Amino acid sequence: MAAANPAILLVDDQPANLLSLKEILRDPELDLVTARSGGEALKLILKQDFAVVLLDVNMPDMDGFETAKLIRARDRSKHLPIIFLTAMYTDDLSAARGYSLGAVDYLFKPYVPEILKSKVAVFVDLYNKTEEIRRQSILMREMEQREYETRLTEQRQRLEAQAMLMREEHRISRAILEHAPIGIARLDKSHTVLEINEEFARLFKKEREWLLRKDLFAAIPCLQEDNIIQALEQQQPFFTEGMKVHTETNQLDDKAGRYFDLALWPIEGRDMRMNGAVLLVVDVTERTRLSQQRDDFVATLAHDLQTPVIASDRALELLQETLQEKLSPEQLKLVSMLRDNNRTLLNMIQSLLEIYRYEAGAQPLYFDEVDLQVVVETCVRDLHPIAEKHGIEMRLEVPASTHKVVADPVAVRRVVVNLLDNAIKYTPRGGRIDIIAQNMDGKVSLQITDTGIGISSDALPRLFNRYWHRSDRNLGDRSHKQSCGLGLYLCKQIVDAHSGRIWCESQPGRGSSFTIEFPCAARSLPAVSPVAFLPAVISIADPPDGPIVISPAESEEDIRCQTKTSSA
Ligand code: ADP
Repeated sequence: MAAANPAILLVDDQPANLLSLKEILRDPELDLVTARSGGEALKLILKQDFAVVLLDVNMPDMDGFETAKLIRARDRSKHLPIIFLTAMYTDDLSAARGYSLGAVDYLFKPYVPEILKSKVAVFVDLYNKTEEIRRQSILMREMEQREYETRLTEQRQRLEAQAMLMREEHRISRAILEHAPIGIARLDKSHTVLEINEEFARLFKKEREWLLRKDLFAAIPCLQEDNIIQALEQQQPFFTEGMKVHTETNQLDDKAGRYFDLALWPIEGRDMRMNGAVLLVVDVTERTRLSQQRDDFVATLAHDLQTPVIASDRALELLQETLQEKLSPEQLKLVSMLRDNNRTLLNMIQSLLEIYRYEAGAQPLYFDEVDLQVVVETCVRDLHPIAEKHGIEMRLEVPASTHKVVADPVAVRRVVVNLLDNAIKYTPRGGRIDIIAQNMDGKVSLQITDTGIGISSDALPRLFNRYWHRSDRNLGDRSHKQSCGLGLYLCKQIVDAHSGRIWCESQPGRGSSFTIEFPCAARSLPAVSPVAFLPAVISIADPPDGPIVISPAESEEDIRCQTKTSSA
């Protein structure tokens, strides 16, 4: 829509004057509005905007000054330009009065058309520019408003999309939570159950609604384990595998007890502070029982195999001794080979049995104050002939400082012999094995470093796993024929049972370094664990030339003696 023409208000009580003004100012781009009195002019000004008012000073009811005063008094027109028209001679005083009432100019009758037109043109121009600025600012405001609305709409759409996504994610998480075959519970710091899924209630044979808002440990006493309570109260993560739930507290009508994998980790509350935890429980009873059955089977098998192997070794030994003269060198070599194989088999069987006992917590450990130096020296002396046979140098370095640890000497010997035996197996002829004992920071350590084939970095993390071994034929028969991956696993079990540490550093092609570390003997001796099985006879993989005494154990005393004999 085109903007309206600027309007000019002409106020005079004389129609002839108005006519002449209109005639002079006639312009198709101007809107000339006339009023015959001050009152009429004021009414028009109330309804419409004008670029300028030409106001006759001398009018009968309300003169020009009076009218101007009222024009200025109104908000809408207080800035309206006023040009006074007068026929009278105007002295400085009345001019000053006119200006004080807001006049911007005076025009004297008779008018000079050019002057009149040019004075009016100034105000028309001003009005047009002001209007233009006003229009522009309205346009700008409209544009800003439109932009703001667009941004607002986009923002709303984004928020709606996010909310929808969150609702969807929430729905999926709830569905997972609901249908997962894992018991899930959310607890607050004081053990109150805030949320649980169906599986959790099912695992503990409880009603879901009944469990809500109850103290977890009061509602399910079989979970009342110190380390779980402590982890929850201290807001620490906690994880345990195959936790046995004791029959007297499990209330699950399951006399044999049940086994759970359990994980607990702290979560943040709305105030971003840790104030609760999520507890996950998986029933692993079937898996644990199967694994126990398998272990029991392997242990029984190993145990039953022991007697015939020992018997066969005795028979071969007898054969070796009594028929020495009658057998040909080939036959004697064959018998010797059979005895070697028997020993390997027996070693494996005994490792398996020992591992089984450690895992079942049934391996008796006879703690005593043990001088590690003495144990190590004995082992080195025993294995020295084998090392020599394979062209490997062995160096023992034990500083004078005390190396006493609280340990089971037989078990520690088992570890040292295993490590030395491996070092010999995996070090080629011409290599070296360094054995260094140290006493530092309340710990006694023993480091066995070889210059052998080494272990690759990807194998290192699995080195102490059960059954992990490498079929490496680099060293011919020596390296792989007796490997079944039980030795290091057993070492770890023994070291763990002593609250010690074992680790390995290695560089393929350059050698390996195994370290065991035990706390110093400052602490009091732990109680002797109950005897559940008779300990196995210690044997070494590749014996020195003299015969190793292998005989079935009759008593623990017997075993100790045999061990001593075999290692002497
Ligand atoms: P095993 O009882 O059958 O000898 P271990 O558990 O003692 O088995 O050793 C497992 C594997 O670790 C071996 O097969 C071998 O590959 C590697 N290993 C152990 N000790 C050394 C060593 N000193 N140097 C190189 N490899 C070694």
